[in-house]
This record gives sequence, structure tokens and C-alpha cells, in this order.
Amino acid sequence: TADDVATPSKTKQILKQHDLVLKKSLGQNFLIDQNILSKIVSAAELDKSRGALEIGPGIGALTQQLAKLAGRVVAVEIDQRLLPILGETLSPYPHASVVHGDILKTDLLVLFRQHFEGVDGVSVVANLPYYITTPIIMKLLEEKLPLENIVVMIQKEVADRMAARPGTKDYGSLSIAVQFYCEAELVTIVPRTVFVPQPNVDSAVIRLRVRKTPPVEVEDADFFFAVVQSAFVQRRKTLYNNLAARFFSKENKAELEALLHGIGIDPSRRGETLSMGEFARLSTALRAHGC
Ligand code: SAM
Repeated sequence: TADDVATPSKTKQILKQHDLVLKKSLGQNFLIDQNILSKIVSAAELDKSRGALEIGPGIGALTQQLAKLAGRVVAVEIDQRLLPILGETLSPYPHASVVHGDILKTDLLVLFRQHFEGVDGVSVVANLPYYITTPIIMKLLEEKLPLENIVVMIQKEVADRMAARPGTKDYGSLSIAVQFYCEAELVTIVPRTVFVPQPNVDSAVIRLRVRKTPPVEVEDADFFFAVVQSAFVQRRKTLYNNLAARFFSKENKAELEALLHGIGIDPSRRGETLSMGEFARLSTALRAHGC
């Protein structure tokens, strides 16, 4: 529509009018392409009964499109200078509000209670500030918020790691952490030309469908993630060597070999070949062993 800010000329005009120099340190690369915005918002599966939480609205390019579809939109922005601009670009959308703050320091349960009461489901939809991509995603997952989808623009390299399958070079502890909580799916790869200014990495949109229950059963999630971490400490080493370094002393190392054979995992395999189910079995066995 005529109010949309995500065109090259409109965006440049707004920045000029407000005398705004974008900050690289805050990951300020704004979207100027309506096609990419439609792909992002349609991946989020929003409707008027649902809410959207946006992280880093910038001047409101994505926020406007979210507000057209969702019944409630809340956008958390750290840069105070953007607040008056957002007030203008979002004025046609009274069901969209902006919260000034650092997403990593925001109590999201409180925010949900204040803003999303009575909403059927909430999805996070954002073009994330890349310098904190992983901390933001881990915060969303670990705080166990009642989320439906997380649809985010991130560095392509990080998207590849989040969606990676066992046995590939991108598969690691981030893949397992994300896929424990979500089904991960690459939506689209995005050229640098859709941003102002252009970032110096390639980007992709990823959709994480938040699971109701994890795909594997683990008694103690923290211990499970510690085992996964330890298996990737030195990628080129065998599973046996990585686990021995973390959980066994010189004297009782032999027990590890028996333990691995006992659960049908060859000690000479590398961590990157283990499925999530195998990691679950491994963490249960290590725990039962007293690790
Ligand atoms: N959504 C806009 C768009 O797509 O054009 C802007 C996206 S830009 C990549 C990232 C935005 O996140 C910027 O507006 C930046 O100021 C904001 N930001 C950076 N760090 C933040 C933080 N810790 N908490 C909240 N917002 C943050």
C-alpha cells in the first residue's frame, strides 16, 4: 500500500528526513523489497486470531506487513532514535505496538502476559540483528515460550547449521539444540541487494516450527546438551576421544568403550554422524553410569 516504507526511495527518504545514520554495531540492515517481506510473513502463517512478536523493527518495513495480517503485533527495538519514525509508519495500525528495549534483557513471559492475552498463538517474525542471532534464538527456545513459529532472516551460514542433518559438515550442537525444540526448514535464500545498507554476508529465511514435545526422550535436558557439546569439542576426533576427555579419567576410560558398544554405537564414529536419537541414548547411558 501507499504507506509501505520498504522501497529503496521511501526508506532513503525517511532516513534523510530524520537525519538518521544507521549503526553497523546494531546490525541495522533494513529491508527494501516487498517480495521478500511477503515470503517472510506468509511463512509465519498469521491471521487475525494470532499475534506476532518482532525483534528489531527498524523503521517498520516488516512490522507494517505483520500488522496487515496479525491481530496483534509487538515489536521490541533497542534504538531509541527509531521510535518516533515507528510512531509514524505504524500510525495506521493501532494493534501494533513498539516496546523500547534490548530483546536479550526483556522478560518475555511478562511481555506475553501484557500484550498477547487472549491471542490464539504467537509467532516470532524478524529480520534479526546478526550480531546476536544465536543468543536470541536460544533465549526464545530455552524460555519455553508458547510460540507457534519462529520465522527469521539470519546469516545463511547460521541457517544452514540450524537445519543441518547428521553426517553433513554443518551439523553440530546448534543443529541439535534447534531441532530438539523445533522442526527447522529453510524458506528462501536472500540476495544482499534487498537491504540498505547491504550486509557483507549472505542471508536466508528459516522457519522453525516449535514442537509440542521433543522428538526424543531425555531425562535431563541440560545433561543431554552437555553430552552433545562434548561430542563436537574437537570435530576431527572420534566420539570416544571427545567423550573420554570430558567424562572419564585415564583409569576408567575402558568402561567408555564397553558403554558405547552396549548401546550399539561404534566408538570410532565422529560426533557429527550421530542422530538426535543416538545422542539421547548416549546421554541416558552416561547418566546411568554416573557421569
Ligand atoms: N526489521 C527491520 C527491517 O527488516 O528493515 C530492521 C532489521 S535490522 C536487520 C535489525 C534491527 O534490530 C535494527 O532496527 C536494530 O536497531 C535492532 N536491534 C539490534 N539489537 C537489538 C536488541 N538487542 N534488541 C532489540 N532490537 C535490536
